[in-house]
Amino acid sequence: MIRDNILEIKNIIKDSCDRVKRDPSEVTLIDVSKTKPVEMVMEAYEVGERDFGENKVQELVSKYEQCPKDIRWHMIGHLQRNKVKMVIDKAFLIHSVDSLRLAQCIQDEAQKIGKVVNILLEINVAEEESKFGLNKDEVIAFVKEVAKFPNVHVCGLMTVAPYTENAEDNRVYFRILKQLSVDINEENIDNVDMNVLSMGMSGDYPIAIEEGATYVRIGTSIFGFRDYKRSEQIK
Ligand SMILES: *Cc1c(COP(=O)(O)O)cnc(C)c1O
Repeated sequence: MIRDNILEIKNIIKDSCDRVKRDPSEVTLIDVSKTKPVEMVMEAYEVGERDFGENKVQELVSKYEQCPKDIRWHMIGHLQRNKVKMVIDKAFLIHSVDSLRLAQCIQDEAQKIGKVVNILLEINVAEEESKFGLNKDEVIAFVKEVAKFPNVHVCGLMTVAPYTENAEDNRVYFRILKQLSVDINEENIDNVDMNVLSMGMSGDYPIAIEEGATYVRIGTSIFGFRDYKRSEQIK
C-alpha cells in the first residue's frame, strides 16, 4: 500500500510539473514518517525513497540510528535550542529556522564539530497566530544577519500553509513564498542561496509544485492518518 501511494504521488508530481513545464527532477518528495514505525520507513525505502522528514528531534535521532545511513533526514518541525546539538550531525537539512537565537545556536554547535549546516528559513506566510515562522517583512534583514555565520548556510525558504479543504486557497501563499525567494536572491547576499523552496503537503502539493516547490513534504498520503496516542506509546 505504501508502495502504491508513493507511485501515485510520483505520477501526480510529474503531472503537476508537466502543467507548468517544469522538469520533475527539480522536485524531491520528502516522506514525512513522523509517528510511524521504522518498518514503514523501510517499506518506503525499499521503493527507493531516500528523503524522510521528522518533526521531533528524539524521533529523528532514533530512526537515524535504526535505518540505513544513505537516508537523508529532514528536520521539519520546530527546533528548540537545547536539542540542536542532538540533531545537528544527523539532519541533512533543517527546514525550520525561525529565530536568530536558534541560528546562533546552530552556528555554535556546527563550529564545534567543524561542519557547515544547511538550513531553510521558515516563513509564516499566512501570518497565522498558531504557527511558527518569520514574518515575511522581517526576512531580508534576518537573512543578512544569518549570512554572517560561517557554519550556517541558508539554502532557501520553507512554509507550512494553512489547513484548508480547498488547495487552491493556498496558491496565493505559495506564490508569496516564491516571490520572497526571488527578492532575497536579488539582494545577492554572500553565503545565501535561494535554490530550495520547501512547500506543499498531502492536501495541496500539486498547487505548491505549480508555484515552484522543490521539496514537497508528504505524510498522510503515503503512510495514512497519524494516531498520536499510539505514537506516544512507541516512544
Ligand atoms: C506533518 C507535517 C507534514 C506532512 O503533513 P501531511 O498533511 O500528513 O502530508 C509536512 N510538513 C510539516 C512541517 C509537518 O509537520
